[in-house]
Amino acid sequence: MVWPSVRRRRGAINTFRYIQPKNISGLKSVVPDNDSDYVIVGGGTDVLLKIKRNVYHPEEVIGLSAVEEIQHVERGKGVLKIGAALKLADVISSKEISEELPSLVSACKRIASPQLRNMATIGGNVCLSPRCEYYDQVVWAGGFEECYKRGGDLCHVVRGGEGCYAVSCADTPPVLIALDAQVEIEGGHGRRKIFLEDLYRNDGRDYLTINRGEVVSQVVVPLDDSRSCVYNRYSMRGAIDFPIVGVAVSVSDSADECTRSFKVVVTGLQASPVRMESLEQSIGEKRNASNYSGSEVWRAIDEEVDKLRCFRHGVLSNRFKKRTVKMLLRSGMNQLHEGWGNGEGD
Ligand SMILES: Cc1cc2nc3c(=O)[nH]c(=O)nc-3n(C[C@H](O)[C@H](O)[C@H](O)COP(=O)(O)OP(=O)(O)OC[C@H]3O[C@@H](n4cnc5c(N)ncnc54)[C@H](O)[C@@H]3O)c2cc1C
Ligand code: SF4
Repeated sequence: MVWPSVRRRRGAINTFRYIQPKNISGLKSVVPDNDSDYVIVGGGTDVLLKIKRNVYHPEEVIGLSAVEEIQHVERGKGVLKIGAALKLADVISSKEISEELPSLVSACKRIASPQLRNMATIGGNVCLSPRCEYYDQVVWAGGFEECYKRGGDLCHVVRGGEGCYAVSCADTPPVLIALDAQVEIEGGHGRRKIFLEDLYRNDGRDYLTINRGEVVSQVVVPLDDSRSCVYNRYSMRGAIDFPIVGVAVSVSDSADECTRSFKVVVTGLQASPVRMESLEQSIGEKRNASNYSGSEVWRAIDEEVDKLRCFRHGVLSNRFKKRTVKMLLRSGMNQLHEGWGNGEGD
């Protein structure tokens, strides 16, 4: 999905046509699959700020708040289904989600502030646009040439770069990917389901793989009693601040095969959440992970994090970010398996 086109109208409050479908079929009929200029709004805590600041200016805003069919928490066969328009505050207060997916609740609790979580939706967080200080904070104030993401032909972050290096900073995607979540997508051509991991493209301009005319309708998380997941993040301020980096680690014990499978997913590095597959392999592929010593885990973390590609943003260096990822990863591993995070546990 590409961002709506940008037309700057300084000094004016942007006007747009607000469309509020009442159900899924109404939603599918109003989301255009052509080139028209529209944007989907869950809670609007990100989109409406951008419209207000003239970052972009869609002609149509399609709100999901009246579509009750996608505000549910529902048990299916071995899965928990969470409607895309469910508010983050409702995710946090849901007994079922708290019991089954405590790591998701803990990630939601870290997002923004109680007021924002009362508005913001899980679908909006999953589909949150990658952030860039120029695009999100500075350019709207004026004085900068339009960058690629605004239809220009340069990037202020990577001079001479040919892509957009905005950074995915949303808190729930790493946890949901670590939990093997899928998303259901509704569109004029029907319904489809993909792994959440496949929803993302590492391109700040065109970061979602859904097509025009499509909307994420629900997140489907498999329930696995043998899986534990933790999410840790670092932000400059304790509250009302995006993560600089966030790391989700999950481990699942499959009794029949006597294996442990790990997933490690990092937010804050690139335009999409980053899965550390080679680290997962080096730790998780062993038939019995408990043979692995804490010092080996530590070494593997150091080696693999050093290899990570990292988009630079703000005053913090990539070196700092990588050091923080290492720290969060060790802490996560330690929470899952005592001793590993401090290089012990042999
Ligand atoms: C002060 C402040 C602090 C913040 N701190 C954090 C933080 O710590 N962590 C964090 O992750 N976020 C943070 N945010 C960003 C934002 O509030 C959250 O990510 C929130 O969850 C977005 O949800 P929303 O429903 O409001 O999204 P919206 O603004 O409605 O939408 C966000 C994006 O998702 C798209 N979208 C929404 N729903 C769907 C759907 N069902 N299908 C397809 N596309 C959809 C929209 O088109 C838009 O591109 C912060 C925002 C502010 C203003
Ligand atoms: S990273 Fe993307 S949004 Fe930021 S200046 Fe470069 S092109 Fe624009």
